[in-house]
Amino acid sequence: MADCIFCKIVEGDIPAQKVYEDHEFLVFADVKPQAPVHHLVIPKEHISNIMEIKDQDLLGRLFGVIQKVAQQEGISEKGFRVVNNCGDDGGQTVGHIHFHLLGGRFMEWPPG
Ligand code: AMP
Repeated sequence: MADCIFCKIVEGDIPAQKVYEDHEFLVFADVKPQAPVHHLVIPKEHISNIMEIKDQDLLGRLFGVIQKVAQQEGISEKGFRVVNNCGDDGGQTVGHIHFHLLGGRFMEWPPG
C-alpha cells in the first residue's frame, strides 16, 4: 500500500534491522525499543489490523515465526510478551498489522 511505512520496509524503500524473513513474513527491530528485545512481526501482505484478517491460518503461521524468532533471540526459555494493538483505542499507530515481540526483561502486568 502506497503510504504504509511497513509496506515500504517490506519493499526495501525504508531501512530496517531485519531479524527474520521468509516469503510471507518479516520481522524487524522496533525503532523505539521498549525492552532489550523488541521486534515487530508482520505479514508482508498489507492487512490493516486483526479485524481485516480473512485467512485465519495466517495467525498460526505467524505464531510459528514468533516461536522461531524467540529461539533465535534467546528469549524462549525465560519468556517473552506478544502484543497486538488494534485500532485507535488499542493504541495502534501504524495501520499495517504487527505483533510486538518483547523480551529480555521482566514484563509488568497490567500494562499502562
Ligand atoms: P503500534 O503502536 O502498536 O502501532 O506500534 C507501532 C510501532 O512501530 C511502534 O513501537 C514504533 O516504534 C514502531 N515503528 C514505527 N516506525 C518504525 C520504523 N520505521 N521502523 C521500526 N519500527 C517502527
